[in-house]
Amino acid sequence: MRRSADIDALGDVLSAALGFRVPVCSIAELGQSAEAFAALPRPALARPTLVGGGAPYSPTSPAPTAQALDALVRRAKERDVPQILVPNVRRSDDTSALREAGFHPMAVGSECVVRLPGEVDETLRTRVGAGRLGELRRRHHTVARELSWERVRLSELGDSPWARDAFAALHRRQVERQGGRHNPYNAEALHALAGSALADRTELLIRRRPDNSVVQAGLLTNSHNGRGLYHLAQAVDHEDPVARRGLNEASLYALYLDARRSGLEWVHLGRGDADHTRRLGADLFVPLDHWLRGPDLPPPGGDEEDGAEPALSAFAAPGVSTVPVPGPARFRHRPRFDLLDLSSNTNPFLGAESTYPELDTAELARIYLATISKLPGHAGAGGLSADHLLFTSGAVDGVMLLLAALASPGQRVCVTPPTFELYAHFARVQGLSVVEVPLKGDDLSGLDVDRILAADPRVTMLCDPNNPVGTRLDPAQVNALVAGGRGLVVIDEAYVEFSEHPSYAELVDRHENLIVLRTLSKAWGLAGARCGIALAHPGLIDALRRVQVPFGFTNWAQRTVRDRLTNAEEALASVQRIRAERDRMAAALAEHPAVDRVFPSETNFLLARLHKHERVMDQLRGAGILVADTGHLVPATCRISIGTRRANTILLEELSAAL
Ligand code: PMP
Repeated sequence: MRRSADIDALGDVLSAALGFRVPVCSIAELGQSAEAFAALPRPALARPTLVGGGAPYSPTSPAPTAQALDALVRRAKERDVPQILVPNVRRSDDTSALREAGFHPMAVGSECVVRLPGEVDETLRTRVGAGRLGELRRRHHTVARELSWERVRLSELGDSPWARDAFAALHRRQVERQGGRHNPYNAEALHALAGSALADRTELLIRRRPDNSVVQAGLLTNSHNGRGLYHLAQAVDHEDPVARRGLNEASLYALYLDARRSGLEWVHLGRGDADHTRRLGADLFVPLDHWLRGPDLPPPGGDEEDGAEPALSAFAAPGVSTVPVPGPARFRHRPRFDLLDLSSNTNPFLGAESTYPELDTAELARIYLATISKLPGHAGAGGLSADHLLFTSGAVDGVMLLLAALASPGQRVCVTPPTFELYAHFARVQGLSVVEVPLKGDDLSGLDVDRILAADPRVTMLCDPNNPVGTRLDPAQVNALVAGGRGLVVIDEAYVEFSEHPSYAELVDRHENLIVLRTLSKAWGLAGARCGIALAHPGLIDALRRVQVPFGFTNWAQRTVRDRLTNAEEALASVQRIRAERDRMAAALAEHPAVDRVFPSETNFLLARLHKHERVMDQLRGAGILVADTGHLVPATCRISIGTRRANTILLEELSAAL
């Protein structure tokens, strides 16, 4: 796979300017990368090392071809250097040549990219939240008022020697401040770059104070396909780290606006700390590894295969284990931003919606997990990774998928009525046999664990909190089912955000037979976006992926979901309102003469048993009020969603009219 030709060329030009292409040094001397090698044995750090591929300062460097590797090995022998390092290889590159030549990947992090699919403010709001966006905008406005900004084409650098000198001086000071010795971005490097093929597409970004002194200098290179911008080597003339950061943030925000105005789709922020660049709007993190070959070098943390697929769960149905994840292979777990896509047969003339939805939803998965881990009873969810999560077209799609991926016709699915009816429906549709083991107890919250285990089902579907009853199941019984059976246990937590009791989400990492389903349709108010979430062991998620229709999670839905999750305060406050209103309605209904009983509820609905069920239902229908008639599930009941206070009050009035 080719990476951006520009970046390779940039690396070449800078290396040439500095007089070396394959430097020999010790790993510890590679200032930028020393940390990544901290886990290596000490002698390895001190050993002379031939650095191949790009130089360590280039933003990304290519995975060398087999021929280039042969040349490297030859050269190492000639110079009697025992170790070879190929830095910053993307995991999305073809690394078979490296592997075959005896190199091991050492994880170092990622290059960070800000994609700009829509208006900058809208995009950032959905990535960093409204508060943080406000901060960036304020910084931008202050800086724009105080400092002027210029972009000087490299090809015209001869006309602006002050810019070249200021650039080199600022970078030298930055290197010194960081205790480094060698400034790669010196005047010679700029000169070489200005004479290269990149000169027409590279500019110096310069900010000046009113007295004309330069306060910030960086490099911007347009990508080879004209769709993105590499933002490289920013240096700021300021001792105060907070001021430096503020200026960088302000100029990035300005760059995004400018890039978007020019029709660019992404800005590349270089390598970096993902948490930091996430706060700058980065939403794509392409993993990079250093590849190392040398005597007695065990790969740290075992043989961490780059981009290795998780081992498929033993629960996968036979047809599933023999097929790959469908859809274009180029997208599978392979984050890319610099491709020119001529492979999808779409119409290039009709704007952004003509491209297929983004398939790499790992970042959104992390946002979801980070957001729910702050909810009460969800602390452990923060320990899950994107590999534990699959977005589905609503939780109902999750039910379909898991039954298709993990059960085969004829196998048993256990359901516990009264419960959500689509479990049995989808099981029957898929030729599975349905075993009903009714809930027990006055509140219909007791599981008949022995009967369920005796049925030995392939899948047990639990709904907790349960629809239509509203109660939580007994956690000891749920745990007994997860631990005691041979089959899978699915816990549908569609309403769990309204509950006072903990979620089972964090347990999916510990139990390979547990799947937790969630949805954004209820508490998160996004039923229209069709977004459900399956949480499970990565091997189970892999099985679901193989069955899922690709591209079901539209770009619009992804943006909407991201926005809701990064600006969660309003949704969470509304959940509190709903809970308060639910408790008020539960008390009012319990007192109401038309109502025989209200079941306890940890959801956003109430199950009410009516004295005159038929009559009340007729009255409500006649008044144009829709509640769910659940009489066929629990005799003489209806399920009432908690609405606005006004809607709830109207309902109470109509109930009175039915007396
Ligand atoms: N599970 C349960 C228990 C539900 O009550 C519902 C909605 N009625 C769903 C799943 C469906 O959720 P989604 O909109 O995510 O498909």
